[in-house]
Amino acid sequence: RTADLTGLPTGIPEALRDEGIEELYPPQAEAVEAGLTDGESLVAAVPTASGKTLIAELAMLSSVARGGKALYIVPLRALASEKKAEFERWEEYGIDVGVSTGNYESDGEWLSSRDIIVATSEKVDSLVRNNAAWMDQLTCVVADEVHLVDDRHRGPTLEVTLAKLRRLNPNLQVVALSATVGNAGVVADWLDAELVKSDWRPIDLKMGVHYGNAVSFADGSQREVPVGRGERQTPALVADALEGDDDGDQGSSLVFVNSRRNAESAARRMADVTERYLTGDERSDLAELAAEIRDVSDTETSEDLAKAVAKGAAFHHAGLAAEHRTLVEDAFRDRLIKCICATPTLAAGVNTPSRRVVVRDWQRYDGDYGGMKPLDVLEVHQMMGRAGRPGLDPYGEAVLLAKDADARDELFERYIWADAEDVRSKLAAEPALRTHLLATVASGFAHTREGLLEFLDQTLYATQTDDPERLGQVTDRVLDYLEVNGFVEFDGETIQATPVGHTVSRLYLDPMSAAEIIDGLEWAADHRTEKLRALAGETPEKPKRDRSESDNEPGGFQRASEMVADDGGGGGGDDGDGSDGADDTDGGDGDADAFETDRTYPTPLGLYHLVCRTPDMYQLYLKSGDRETYTELCYEREPEFLGRVPSEYEDVAFEDWLSALKTAKLLEDWVGEVDEDRITERYGVGPGDIRGKVETAEWLLGAAERLASELDLDSVYAVREAKKRVEYGVREELLDLAGVRGVGRKRARRLFEAGVESRADLREAEKSRVLAALRGRRKTAENILEAAGRKDPSMDAVDEDDAPDDAVP
Ligand code: ADP
Repeated sequence: RTADLTGLPTGIPEALRDEGIEELYPPQAEAVEAGLTDGESLVAAVPTASGKTLIAELAMLSSVARGGKALYIVPLRALASEKKAEFERWEEYGIDVGVSTGNYESDGEWLSSRDIIVATSEKVDSLVRNNAAWMDQLTCVVADEVHLVDDRHRGPTLEVTLAKLRRLNPNLQVVALSATVGNAGVVADWLDAELVKSDWRPIDLKMGVHYGNAVSFADGSQREVPVGRGERQTPALVADALEGDDDGDQGSSLVFVNSRRNAESAARRMADVTERYLTGDERSDLAELAAEIRDVSDTETSEDLAKAVAKGAAFHHAGLAAEHRTLVEDAFRDRLIKCICATPTLAAGVNTPSRRVVVRDWQRYDGDYGGMKPLDVLEVHQMMGRAGRPGLDPYGEAVLLAKDADARDELFERYIWADAEDVRSKLAAEPALRTHLLATVASGFAHTREGLLEFLDQTLYATQTDDPERLGQVTDRVLDYLEVNGFVEFDGETIQATPVGHTVSRLYLDPMSAAEIIDGLEWAADHRTEKLRALAGETPEKPKRDRSESDNEPGGFQRASEMVADDGGGGGGDDGDGSDGADDTDGGDGDADAFETDRTYPTPLGLYHLVCRTPDMYQLYLKSGDRETYTELCYEREPEFLGRVPSEYEDVAFEDWLSALKTAKLLEDWVGEVDEDRITERYGVGPGDIRGKVETAEWLLGAAERLASELDLDSVYAVREAKKRVEYGVREELLDLAGVRGVGRKRARRLFEAGVESRADLREAEKSRVLAALRGRRKTAENILEAAGRKDPSMDAVDEDDAPDDAVP
């Protein structure tokens, strides 16, 4: 019974009881018996929705009661705020909760006053690198979804971070929460932890496969779900759940599909199903929700989502804006939205239980694999585990779809009868080791090759490997790489990070990204004169700049401009892709000009391309036809690239170069003030992706700025400006205005067109002019004037109609 729990801060057992948690679930009780509230380390491998969070809370709260400090590591940033909100209910019992996200470089000093801190593993890793003082005070660390150490991209960070934290404090309590994986015992060995492994669930889960006119469940039962001729299985299953069980209880459905596009089109179809089951009240609530969704942004995705939501269905994927995601999740929990069509990201973490789960697609395109690949058993089990709402449903139903009897049998074998895969460390992959070895040396965890190997010995990799030689070999290769690139120095015995190496580690860059950036900027310094001339050759109407830059190499000038002319250059105002200039109705929505009026070098595109080709940027894929488009663009903009363009015959390198160019072009459109909607359309991405690229670019350009200044390169100014333009998504002339709080890229453009061109102008301009440019939004206008430092920002008695005609762009 929770009332009998000891070792927790006063009032907590009673609070749990008041929440309706009177008795511990069996795995929770087992964890407490294993010493959870006495500081024992523990691996809890239990199914989704069986109360792992409470296990974590009991450990953290009892640790804090003993005067300690706890850290909760989440796998996704979106989950950090969700968990913080959950833990904040303990604040009335004197527990302070903090969340650490965002800026990788800050040392999070203020967090030292918190009892419970929530952060992503990347953030924790960077806090360790930056020697956050409170790290040594930690007494309890929770690793949520620890099976993700298996993830190629992010797993090694979690693995190394846990190893470092344990090294900082050998008595640290580590509580690792895991899905039911095959080898939880190995994870427990690695962490010197007790193991609680269980298949117990608070609500029964019936897993089955739909084929023909019925679902066959693993327990031998069947449910008839007829599918009419020419109809599809998924809508039939969604409708069937809404028909309700024998008591008439309506059930919601979660449909998992394999791509964002599929999530969106499935939601459109499901909306026609859910619409038939709505009450009048629900319709009006949903109409309100749709309006809220449209208010978040006026993109096409937003409109599509609003349309589906108005009919009771929604889609959910990583390309959605965070506000959209929260609105959808909340309305689904409130049973207002009846069906969500989601990509598997929803299965990880976010608590959205549903009466029925339909796993529509069990294969997904995998770029590294080069084709469709079946999902892991673990992943499918996690999706299926979302079925069943305790207290609401008699049981949950998770259904896979088969076209024929053979396929049905295969799905049973593959996913229903099968155990989840083992977790395997991905640390020995070179990109991972590169980053982590540099950080380990830079933050003083090891100073010799032996010290490094000893540290690595504390990782899961070492626990698992049967080839101890291999780690030594990769370590040597990586150390060589770091030395050749000037990030570490060897003096026979000890290894030390160089000043640049320290910076790279603190900036949280992959050393390979840093090397690429440094090479590119140094190359730019060496080729500056020649490239400026090549660029100037494209716009002969602006001869001034090249004279100021020119020195004594007239031959170079000739060659450079000829080269450009041969490529069919010229026409500096060309809009870059030329395909859709015709429907540009106003300047602000047009393509980014190929060349800025005021020429800087390196150019923004050159810098964007540089950071886009680092391994820290997820590049856009080339779709069919893109190869031609971007090859052409590549030749057109050749003088802007920082570094040698690979030849078309270097297949892979050239392809990568073009993907980076496509990504860079997206950024160039963004800073050229192209509408978000146009960008999503042009590049086939969601608004959330634009945000993602923009944030990554901002971070990488910030890092480039630091490296340039540390290496005394004169491109610092150009890099800073390119970064600021990405931050605000504006052309150069709007930088001042867009920096005013509340202005943003669209309003900055409107104000500028109305003749209010700077922060200073905002303080001086006629108010009616400002109001008209802001489309009569008084509150907005007041806030903006105030933020610009105007003494009397009030808009009372101001009439936008008084504004002169030229104030309305
Ligand atoms: P997991 O993290 O394992 O996926 P959660 O921790 O989100 O699962 O738990 C799912 C739900 O179960 C939550 O709503 C939680 O409040 C509830 N819950 C957890 N433990 C208990 C308990 N002992 N008694 C009743 N409800 C519980």
